[in-house]
Amino acid sequence: MPYRRQRATIMGLGHFGGGVAAARWLARQGAVVTVTDLADAETLADSLAATEDVPIAAVHLGGHREEDFREADLVVVNPAVRPGNRFLEIARAASVPLASEIGLFLRACPAPVIGVTGANGKSTTAAMIVAILEADGRRAWLGGNLGGSLLDDLDRIGPGDWVVLELSSFQLLRLGDDCCSQGTVPIFAARRVLPDASAVSPQKWDGPPPGVRVAVVTNCTPNHLDWHGGYPQYVAAKQRILTSQTPDAVAVLGESLAQDESWRQQVRGSCVALLPDAAIPPLVLPGKHNRRNAVYAATAAGAVGCGDAAIRRGLRGFSGLPGRLQSVATCGGRTFYNDTTATTPESTIAALESLSAPIWLLAGGSDKGIDLAPLASAVVAGARGAAFFGATAAALHDLVKIAASDYPCARVSTMSEALAWCWSRSGPGDCIVLSPGCASHDQFQNFRHRGAVFCELVARLG
Ligand code: ADP
Repeated sequence: MPYRRQRATIMGLGHFGGGVAAARWLARQGAVVTVTDLADAETLADSLAATEDVPIAAVHLGGHREEDFREADLVVVNPAVRPGNRFLEIARAASVPLASEIGLFLRACPAPVIGVTGANGKSTTAAMIVAILEADGRRAWLGGNLGGSLLDDLDRIGPGDWVVLELSSFQLLRLGDDCCSQGTVPIFAARRVLPDASAVSPQKWDGPPPGVRVAVVTNCTPNHLDWHGGYPQYVAAKQRILTSQTPDAVAVLGESLAQDESWRQQVRGSCVALLPDAAIPPLVLPGKHNRRNAVYAATAAGAVGCGDAAIRRGLRGFSGLPGRLQSVATCGGRTFYNDTTATTPESTIAALESLSAPIWLLAGGSDKGIDLAPLASAVVAGARGAAFFGATAAALHDLVKIAASDYPCARVSTMSEALAWCWSRSGPGDCIVLSPGCASHDQFQNFRHRGAVFCELVARLG
């Protein structure tokens, strides 16, 4: 029990379950847990309710206290905390190790881990890998950014199981903190322990957490630049999945990255060749991008011993995840697609290239600092008309008008207005597609909320 009597500060309880899971798991390991968050108790009511049964020593909300960082033995940092945060600097100055929920999991997980990252297609690829592993008769667990923390499941995960983690750039950046050794001295060696914490096993603490056995990187295009501070920082965060691997590990790189020397140089294990498209059976999911995801998933599964038959069986039965180009209703002869997870221009471009019926597009949302001109061109080429809403509405509208001044489009405030515009102009046989190409935080709690509101508005039309 290396965490016994360790003073662990959970920085950021959040709403996505990682903070709650880290608090619960560390408390069960005997740690003295403090939870702190900038948000107040009312905002965090859902997560606080989920920790009611957890013995937490102190809860400091509505702001952070310096002593929770200076006098801790471990700070578990929420992926939402930005690099350079003042309290992280306080912890670092006091030689307090920084960790993450994913790092804690990787240290403790008895099963081999397949990690999946990329700008687009992470979740679909990760879920496809699980489908193949299960078709091969193996027990597989899906977690990380998709499906939540697996810390709570550690008791049930065995060494013969397989774990598939979808990893965001934010999670990988924090893994960098976990791995961060100062000079040749691992930062975990600098911990302070309470006087009677003699049961601490040093090998658990020293050095970085183990890397993933198989790392899959689907693609890499600019994303979250507002948060990371620039494309090089975003790329560096993504590359952590490769640089934290050991020489006996395996990397699967998407086509564009496999040809890119700057990515190949980051591979520490062996880079396996992608399976040919001919190895992939017909898929339920539309679009060439999903066939590419299937190639990555099949290559990763093949690298851990799944045979052709399991690959074909797993992929053939895979029906997709909610909110990814998901057909949700037919009404007045129009088919409605919820593609709310399209938070990047590339994912909306993929949607426009995947559907054969005339498309009326709802797009727009919060600004991540990405160039929207390629999206505007693709909209003109691939959609019959488009209504733009949210923070990027004006920018998208102007870019589309520059590309084609007579293109049928509208700049509106809300998604409801965008839907009304598309509905009034479309006809039977057309499809109406929410594929925003932008993040949701300007008008919604998150992309799930955005998708739920869309489905509700569509249901009202019926
Ligand atoms: P992620 O987990 O990286 O966000 P998802 O699998 O959840 O990826 O898909 C999110 C969005 O990206 C959906 O709109 C989906 O259709 C689209 N998408 C999936 N794979 C790709 C890909 N390889 N290239 C471009 N867009 C993709």
